[in-house]
Amino acid sequence: MILILLGPPGAGKGTQAKRLEKTRSLVQLSTGDMLRAEAAAGSKLGLEAKRIMDEGKLVPDALIIGMIGERLDRPDAARGVILDGFPRTVAQAEALEAMLAGKGRKVDCVIELKVDETALIDRIAGRFSCTQCGAGYHDTFHPPRKAGVCDQCGGTRFDRRKDDNPETMKTRLKAYREQTAPILPFYEGRGLVRQVDGMAEVAEVASQIDAALERC
Ligand code: AMP
Repeated sequence: MILILLGPPGAGKGTQAKRLEKTRSLVQLSTGDMLRAEAAAGSKLGLEAKRIMDEGKLVPDALIIGMIGERLDRPDAARGVILDGFPRTVAQAEALEAMLAGKGRKVDCVIELKVDETALIDRIAGRFSCTQCGAGYHDTFHPPRKAGVCDQCGGTRFDRRKDDNPETMKTRLKAYREQTAPILPFYEGRGLVRQVDGMAEVAEVASQIDAALERC
Protein backbone atom coordinates (compact mmCIF):
# COMPACT_ATOMS: atom_id res chain seq x y z
CA MET A 1 0.00 0.00 0.00
CA ILE A 2 1.08 3.55 -0.71
CA LEU A 3 -0.63 5.91 1.68
CA ILE A 4 -0.26 9.69 1.77
CA LEU A 5 -0.94 11.59 4.99
CA LEU A 6 -1.80 15.15 4.13
CA GLY A 7 -2.26 18.09 6.47
CA PRO A 8 -0.54 21.26 7.66
CA PRO A 9 2.41 21.19 10.09
CA GLY A 10 1.19 20.08 13.51
CA ALA A 11 -1.83 18.19 12.11
CA GLY A 12 -0.56 14.91 13.59
CA LYS A 13 0.86 13.24 10.48
CA GLY A 14 4.03 12.04 12.20
CA THR A 15 2.18 10.65 15.24
CA GLN A 16 -0.27 8.72 13.08
CA ALA A 17 2.44 7.55 10.66
CA LYS A 18 4.44 6.05 13.54
CA ARG A 19 1.37 4.16 14.76
CA LEU A 20 0.53 2.88 11.26
CA GLU A 21 4.12 1.66 10.85
CA LYS A 22 3.51 -0.70 13.75
CA THR A 23 -0.08 -1.72 13.09
CA ARG A 24 0.16 -2.15 9.31
CA SER A 25 3.87 -2.93 8.94
CA LEU A 26 4.37 -0.09 6.53
CA VAL A 27 7.44 2.15 6.41
CA GLN A 28 7.12 5.83 7.33
CA LEU A 29 8.86 8.04 4.80
CA SER A 30 9.05 11.56 6.21
CA THR A 31 10.84 13.95 3.86
CA GLY A 32 11.25 16.38 6.78
CA ASP A 33 13.05 13.68 8.84
CA MET A 34 15.21 12.76 5.84
CA LEU A 35 16.23 16.39 5.33
CA ARG A 36 16.99 16.86 9.04
CA ALA A 37 19.15 13.71 8.96
CA GLU A 38 21.01 15.09 5.92
CA ALA A 39 21.50 18.42 7.69
CA ALA A 40 22.78 16.70 10.85
CA ALA A 41 25.22 14.68 8.73
CA GLY A 42 26.42 17.94 7.17
CA SER A 43 25.94 16.79 3.56
CA LYS A 44 25.79 19.40 0.79
CA LEU A 45 22.12 18.63 0.21
CA GLY A 46 21.42 18.82 3.96
CA LEU A 47 23.12 22.16 4.44
CA GLU A 48 21.35 23.67 1.44
CA ALA A 49 18.01 22.38 2.73
CA LYS A 50 18.60 23.50 6.33
CA ARG A 51 18.75 27.17 5.41
CA ILE A 52 15.38 26.90 3.63
CA MET A 53 13.79 24.78 6.37
CA ASP A 54 14.83 27.27 9.06
CA GLU A 55 12.90 29.93 7.15
CA GLY A 56 9.82 27.69 6.92
CA LYS A 57 9.86 27.64 3.12
CA LEU A 58 9.72 24.60 0.85
CA VAL A 59 12.89 22.94 -0.41
CA PRO A 60 13.08 22.81 -4.26
CA ASP A 61 11.02 20.07 -5.90
CA ALA A 62 13.95 18.55 -7.84
CA LEU A 63 15.93 17.94 -4.65
CA ILE A 64 12.96 16.33 -2.86
CA ILE A 65 11.91 14.21 -5.84
CA GLY A 66 15.46 12.85 -6.25
CA MET A 67 15.68 12.04 -2.54
CA ILE A 68 12.32 10.25 -2.33
CA GLY A 69 12.98 8.39 -5.61
CA GLU A 70 16.12 6.84 -4.13
CA ARG A 71 14.30 5.99 -0.92
CA LEU A 72 11.41 4.28 -2.73
CA ASP A 73 13.94 2.07 -4.53
CA ARG A 74 15.20 0.56 -1.27
CA PRO A 75 13.91 -2.98 -0.60
CA ASP A 76 11.97 -2.14 2.58
CA ALA A 77 9.76 0.31 0.64
CA ALA A 78 8.41 -2.58 -1.44
CA ARG A 79 6.17 -3.75 1.42
CA GLY A 80 4.32 -0.41 1.47
CA VAL A 81 4.91 3.14 2.65
CA ILE A 82 3.28 5.99 4.48
CA LEU A 83 4.30 9.26 2.88
CA ASP A 84 4.48 11.92 5.59
CA GLY A 85 5.17 15.45 4.34
CA PHE A 86 5.40 14.40 0.70
CA PRO A 87 4.13 15.32 -1.85
CA ARG A 88 3.90 18.99 -0.92
CA THR A 89 3.41 20.56 -4.35
CA VAL A 90 1.48 19.58 -7.47
CA ALA A 91 4.81 19.08 -9.27
CA GLN A 92 5.84 16.58 -6.56
CA ALA A 93 2.48 14.77 -6.85
CA GLU A 94 2.91 14.48 -10.61
CA ALA A 95 6.50 13.29 -10.28
CA LEU A 96 5.43 10.70 -7.70
CA GLU A 97 2.73 9.38 -10.00
CA ALA A 98 5.20 9.03 -12.89
CA MET A 99 7.83 7.45 -10.64
CA LEU A 100 5.36 4.86 -9.29
CA ALA A 101 3.92 4.11 -12.73
CA GLY A 102 7.43 3.16 -13.83
CA LYS A 103 7.48 0.54 -11.05
CA GLY A 104 3.92 -0.69 -11.73
CA ARG A 105 2.71 0.92 -8.50
CA LYS A 106 0.29 3.70 -7.59
CA VAL A 107 -0.96 5.77 -4.66
CA ASP A 108 -3.76 3.83 -2.93
CA CYS A 109 -5.12 6.38 -0.49
CA VAL A 110 -4.74 10.02 0.58
CA ILE A 111 -5.85 10.78 4.13
CA GLU A 112 -6.44 14.45 4.78
CA LEU A 113 -6.14 15.48 8.43
CA LYS A 114 -8.54 18.40 8.78
CA VAL A 115 -7.45 20.85 11.47
CA ASP A 116 -8.20 24.31 12.76
CA GLU A 117 -5.19 26.47 11.87
CA THR A 118 -5.45 28.57 15.04
CA ALA A 119 -4.80 25.49 17.22
CA LEU A 120 -1.68 24.51 15.33
CA ILE A 121 0.61 27.17 16.77
CA ASP A 122 -0.03 25.81 20.32
CA ARG A 123 0.51 22.23 19.19
CA ILE A 124 3.78 23.09 17.48
CA ALA A 125 5.12 25.39 20.19
CA GLY A 126 5.21 22.66 22.84
CA ARG A 127 6.45 19.68 20.89
CA PHE A 128 9.73 17.82 21.32
CA SER A 129 11.09 14.39 20.55
CA CYS A 130 13.47 11.78 21.92
CA THR A 131 16.85 12.06 20.16
CA GLN A 132 17.39 8.30 20.56
CA CYS A 133 14.17 6.77 19.16
CA GLY A 134 12.29 9.76 17.71
CA ALA A 135 9.18 9.32 19.90
CA GLY A 136 7.18 12.54 19.90
CA TYR A 137 5.97 14.44 23.00
CA HIS A 138 4.26 17.70 23.93
CA ASP A 139 4.74 19.85 27.05
CA THR A 140 0.99 20.08 27.71
CA PHE A 141 -0.82 17.47 25.61
CA HIS A 142 1.57 14.52 25.85
CA PRO A 143 4.45 14.80 28.34
CA PRO A 144 6.56 11.67 29.07
CA ARG A 145 5.12 9.62 31.98
CA LYS A 146 8.32 10.29 33.95
CA ALA A 147 9.68 13.80 33.38
CA GLY A 148 12.87 13.76 31.34
CA VAL A 149 12.67 10.06 30.42
CA CYS A 150 11.36 8.71 27.12
CA ASP A 151 8.40 6.31 27.59
CA GLN A 152 9.47 4.23 24.61
CA CYS A 153 13.23 3.72 25.00
CA GLY A 154 14.26 5.24 28.35
CA GLY A 155 16.36 7.88 26.58
CA THR A 156 16.99 11.10 28.47
CA ARG A 157 17.92 13.47 25.66
CA PHE A 158 15.26 15.42 23.80
CA ASP A 159 15.25 17.80 20.91
CA ARG A 160 13.07 20.72 19.78
CA ARG A 161 12.91 21.64 16.12
CA LYS A 162 14.30 25.04 15.27
CA ASP A 163 11.40 25.70 12.86
CA ASP A 164 8.77 24.96 15.55
CA ASN A 165 8.33 28.59 16.58
CA PRO A 166 5.33 30.91 16.01
CA GLU A 167 7.15 33.12 13.49
CA THR A 168 8.40 30.32 11.20
CA MET A 169 5.08 28.57 11.66
CA LYS A 170 3.32 31.43 9.86
CA THR A 171 5.52 30.88 6.79
CA ARG A 172 5.01 27.10 6.98
CA LEU A 173 1.21 27.51 7.12
CA LYS A 174 1.33 29.92 4.18
CA ALA A 175 3.37 27.38 2.20
CA TYR A 176 0.77 24.74 3.06
CA ARG A 177 -2.15 26.92 1.95
CA GLU A 178 -0.54 28.14 -1.25
CA GLN A 179 1.61 25.23 -2.42
CA THR A 180 0.37 22.05 -0.73
CA ALA A 181 -3.43 22.41 -0.48
CA PRO A 182 -3.69 22.55 -4.32
CA ILE A 183 -2.70 18.89 -4.47
CA LEU A 184 -6.08 17.97 -2.93
CA PRO A 185 -8.00 18.51 -6.19
CA PHE A 186 -5.28 16.47 -7.97
CA TYR A 187 -6.05 13.44 -5.78
CA GLU A 188 -9.79 14.16 -5.46
CA GLY A 189 -9.98 13.85 -9.24
CA ARG A 190 -8.57 10.34 -8.83
CA GLY A 191 -11.11 9.50 -6.09
CA LEU A 192 -8.39 8.90 -3.49
CA VAL A 193 -9.05 11.46 -0.74
CA ARG A 194 -10.57 10.48 2.62
CA GLN A 195 -10.99 13.13 5.33
CA VAL A 196 -10.53 12.67 9.06
CA ASP A 197 -10.96 15.08 11.96
CA GLY A 198 -7.42 15.94 13.00
CA MET A 199 -8.68 17.99 15.95
CA ALA A 200 -9.96 14.88 17.77
CA GLU A 201 -7.97 12.97 20.44
CA VAL A 202 -5.04 10.94 19.04
CA ALA A 203 -6.90 7.62 19.58
CA GLU A 204 -10.03 8.93 17.87
CA VAL A 205 -8.00 10.21 14.89
CA ALA A 206 -6.39 6.75 14.73
CA SER A 207 -9.75 4.98 14.59
CA GLN A 208 -11.06 7.40 11.95
CA ILE A 209 -7.95 6.67 9.86
CA ASP A 210 -8.44 2.93 10.25
CA ALA A 211 -12.06 3.30 9.13
CA ALA A 212 -11.00 5.49 6.18
CA LEU A 213 -8.44 2.89 5.11
CA GLU A 214 -11.25 0.34 4.83
CA ARG A 215 -12.82 2.63 2.23
CA CYS A 216 -9.67 3.03 0.11
P1 AMP B 1 8.17 18.64 8.13
O1 AMP B 1 9.05 17.85 9.04
O2 AMP B 1 7.35 17.77 7.21
O3 AMP B 1 7.35 19.67 8.85
O4 AMP B 1 9.16 19.45 7.15
C1 AMP B 1 10.06 20.39 7.66
C2 AMP B 1 10.60 21.25 6.53
O5 AMP B 1 11.29 20.42 5.59
C3 AMP B 1 9.54 21.98 5.69
O6 AMP B 1 9.13 23.20 6.29
C4 AMP B 1 10.29 22.18 4.39
O7 AMP B 1 11.23 23.22 4.49
C5 AMP B 1 11.07 20.88 4.26
N1 AMP B 1 10.31 19.84 3.55
C6 AMP B 1 9.90 18.63 4.04
N2 AMP B 1 9.26 17.92 3.12
C7 AMP B 1 9.24 18.69 1.99
C8 AMP B 1 8.71 18.50 0.69
N3 AMP B 1 8.03 17.40 0.35
N4 AMP B 1 8.89 19.52 -0.21
C9 AMP B 1 9.56 20.64 0.11
N5 AMP B 1 10.09 20.88 1.32
C10 AMP B 1 9.93 19.91 2.26
